Amino acid sequence: MKTFLKSSASRLSLVAAALVLSAPLSSVQAQQKFMTIGTGGVTGVYYVAGGAICRLINKDRAKHGYRCTVESTGGSVANINTINGGDLDFGVAQSDAQFNAVKGAKAFDGKPVADLRAVFSLHPEPLTLVARKEANIKSLADLKGKRVAIGNPGSGTRSSVDELLVNAGLKGSDFSAVSELKPDEHGAALCDNKIDAFFYVVGHPSANIQDPMTTCGAQLVNITGAAIDKLVAANSFYSDAKIPAKTYPSQADALSTYGVLATVVTSSKKSDEEVYLFVKAVFDNFDEFKKLHPAFAGLTPEKMVQAGLSAPLHTGAAKYYKEKGWMK
Ligand code: GLU
Repeated sequence: MKTFLKSSASRLSLVAAALVLSAPLSSVQAQQKFMTIGTGGVTGVYYVAGGAICRLINKDRAKHGYRCTVESTGGSVANINTINGGDLDFGVAQSDAQFNAVKGAKAFDGKPVADLRAVFSLHPEPLTLVARKEANIKSLADLKGKRVAIGNPGSGTRSSVDELLVNAGLKGSDFSAVSELKPDEHGAALCDNKIDAFFYVVGHPSANIQDPMTTCGAQLVNITGAAIDKLVAANSFYSDAKIPAKTYPSQADALSTYGVLATVVTSSKKSDEEVYLFVKAVFDNFDEFKKLHPAFAGLTPEKMVQAGLSAPLHTGAAKYYKEKGWMK
């Protein structure tokens, strides 16, 4: 991030460096600007998505002067709050978190994020339950009496799981232990027998699910039933989701659950110029972008510019989409 700019000593040395270097550099290079994308754990898919976007933006650095970097964060809710505080420029966030931020609901209780702007949506993120094979967990109800990781504070996973548990009639006290492990830690904790199951709202395949499935035979569990049908019917940002058989090498059967979309968000305070070049980098290089993670394979621009977006579109993004004829 730009935190190094906060120390006045380094700010001074930066000014000094700029003075020394300004003569031989072109004006664009001399005014290098920074752009940071908040993601999630380094073993999740947001981190890959952020890296892919930055790579495409940085290809044209000499032209526009922006250097894009990726930051690992607590996830969706943390990203939205940090963008709102001005310390991140862009972030990846679940569509339910985007919706709740706009409304000031759930994790954003009573505090609508009025400056939040949508950029585009990305891959589907099924709500995923992964269990130790010895734990005999075949459904949500089997979680009773077990050690369960429900997502770290600030993650989108956590706010979705909080909502799921209330609707499924489960409470923290139904579990023998509740853990707030980060996604980068939950796979190893499962194989080390420190937890019986973890929840993760994520695109597939995800490295930190693949690892425990391969290393200790962890299994995916269906999240279905009348309570889920009701939850999906009541909320436009949820839909039924499947994880096809063999998404992970040891996964014999398709899994049924429900889920959200990953989306990219920013602030109304970001300039049209910056957001325009951000979306242009992705869509001008769309075939290359789609190849950077299997979860992106099914993406289409027409869907990405509207599905899962509840905050107003940033005007810089809308400008590009109109030029392309993807919206009026
Ligand atoms: N959906 C997750 C969250 O917001 C992050 C998933 C990922 O990093 O790919 O907590």
